Amino acid sequence: MTPEEFRRNGHKVVDWVADYLSDVDKYPVKSRVEPGWVRSQLPATAPEAGENFDAIIADLDRVILPGLMHWQSPGFFGYFPANNSGPSILGELVSAGLGVQGMMWLTSPACTELESHVLDWLVELLGLPDGFRSEGAGGGVIQDSASSAVLCALLAARERATNGQSNRSGIDAPLVVYATDQAHSSIDKAVRIAGIGSVNLRRIRTNADLSMSAPALAEAIRADLAVGKAPCFVAATVGTTATNAVDPVAAIAEICEPYGVWLHVDAAMLGTATICPEFRHLISGLSGADSYCFNPHKWLLTNFDCSCFFVRNRASLIAALSILPEYLRNAASESGAVIDYRDWQIPLGRRFRALKLWFVLRSYGAAELRAMVRRHVKSAQWFAGMVAASTEFELVTTTPLNLVCFRHIGGNVASEYVMNAVNDSGKAFLTHARINDSVLLRLSVGQEHTEPTHLETTWQLLREACASV
Ligand SMILES: *Cc1c(COP(=O)(O)O)cnc(C)c1O
Repeated sequence: MTPEEFRRNGHKVVDWVADYLSDVDKYPVKSRVEPGWVRSQLPATAPEAGENFDAIIADLDRVILPGLMHWQSPGFFGYFPANNSGPSILGELVSAGLGVQGMMWLTSPACTELESHVLDWLVELLGLPDGFRSEGAGGGVIQDSASSAVLCALLAARERATNGQSNRSGIDAPLVVYATDQAHSSIDKAVRIAGIGSVNLRRIRTNADLSMSAPALAEAIRADLAVGKAPCFVAATVGTTATNAVDPVAAIAEICEPYGVWLHVDAAMLGTATICPEFRHLISGLSGADSYCFNPHKWLLTNFDCSCFFVRNRASLIAALSILPEYLRNAASESGAVIDYRDWQIPLGRRFRALKLWFVLRSYGAAELRAMVRRHVKSAQWFAGMVAASTEFELVTTTPLNLVCFRHIGGNVASEYVMNAVNDSGKAFLTHARINDSVLLRLSVGQEHTEPTHLETTWQLLREACASV
């Protein structure tokens, strides 16, 4: 494709995306296709001769749109928000257009320096500890996902706990990891990948609100030490996936500190909230954590993939992940004056992801982002109030922020029935979780264009569904 053809088709594609975003509330949020339908619409073999670009765009409407869940719909209340936004999409386009590999400072200085700079901005915007700024011993890096972030944190912790032995000789130290049963499955996965083994993942008892019991953590660490184990890593969560439970970071940090246990704090979705000062209490005590992660690709209008990972001491991370083959040697790296982000992540290659985040932060400004968070929290509070006042439904947890957890008083079958009714309507989409064999419904508010009317409609649909429970 020549640059001129690219310009012409590019304008069409941008128009197509703009139309999609302006019409997205007209599609059923949950796809209605049967398994195999999408493939049945596609030719069995790749085309021998190149096709007209218009034909490709037409197939987006014909084959792709019906097979989508519309995460950008203002009626999307499932799982967690996965927002994009105009500035983010355009930043992504520029990133693709430039096509640089940012594995080292040398391979595109702007890719590295913009990333360090924007992550330092976020330290201030989100009220994170100064120790996470890149000017000192720490620093931030964009990962593809919170799952990669926790794996990197665990590898750094493993290397620190074994005094640099684990990379060389594998692990023979009896390392132990701690989290609650509400922690994200990526912790379990990281424990497997890091070779620590699932039997060495201790599930710490939770309080009534499903947050980690700090005394139970202290007890578990002491019990492990008493039998010669090596407590290595605690994964605390600020905003668990099922119910938005918040582990007490300050108390956990105090427990970890004397034992030199690495504390990672996973705030994948809820981390965005601390852009508002009134929600900073969620991360009080974070200066005692070794690492922290939150996902702009959830609630901060930056399309997947963009997960911000901060460490207090980057030396441990680099020690765990740095390998220097001859062909990557260069004077800038050897000068020690630059960051080479290849040493802060699992893959070598890396995309220019800071661009989309930079576009978002500049284009909206912090004030508008705060206003969005407050709008969402207010909407969720309104919905929680309706649930609390109703005779058919009850709240399962308090609703501190943007996630409402509730159920039908008739129990699991009734709860699932009304959820399916809402989802089949196409106007809204909810998901569920299960705590102690009890199904709860989750209404997660976080789409940029969700307005009070979308919540009113969803509430109405739920009420109507009750009639046939
Ligand atoms: C969504 C979520 C994750 C996983 O995020 P990815 O970026 O998809 O890996 C991890 N932890 C929590 C608490 C989450 O809500």
